[in-house]
Amino acid sequence: MGLANCPECGKLYVENTSGLCPACYEVEEYEELKIVEFLREQGKASIEEICKATGVREKTILRMMKRGRFKGTFDITYPCESCGANISEGRLCPACSKNITDQVKESNERRQEQDRDGVRIYTKSFFKK
Ligand SMILES: [Zn+2]
Ligand SMILES: [Zn+2]
Repeated sequence: MGLANCPECGKLYVENTSGLCPACYEVEEYEELKIVEFLREQGKASIEEICKATGVREKTILRMMKRGRFKGTFDITYPCESCGANISEGRLCPACSKNITDQVKESNERRQEQDRDGVRIYTKSFFKK
């Protein structure tokens, strides 16, 4: 535990599990209650809908979600960072994260092929001598 700057108001505070200074945490707890109330009525909502209905900022809602606040109790969706589809976990929808995994795999395979070619050329010229 050390000192940190509160990400909300910038004041120095003693680090705690909430990641906020006590004053901001109090505000956030109040905002969380508003969200919970809204979600109880709606059952399921996107972050955008929650922002509009409660006035709580998207950044704050995301932080609460990262702390696992609504996990398992409520279904909150937010847009995939790549295509904008509604998701409730991670940063990308399953289709986009699969795309990225495929791309990474492909470039890895290509690199391995290049390595093999490199070795072959090296071996050939080595034996010529
Ligand atoms: Zn603060
Ligand atoms: Zn996507």
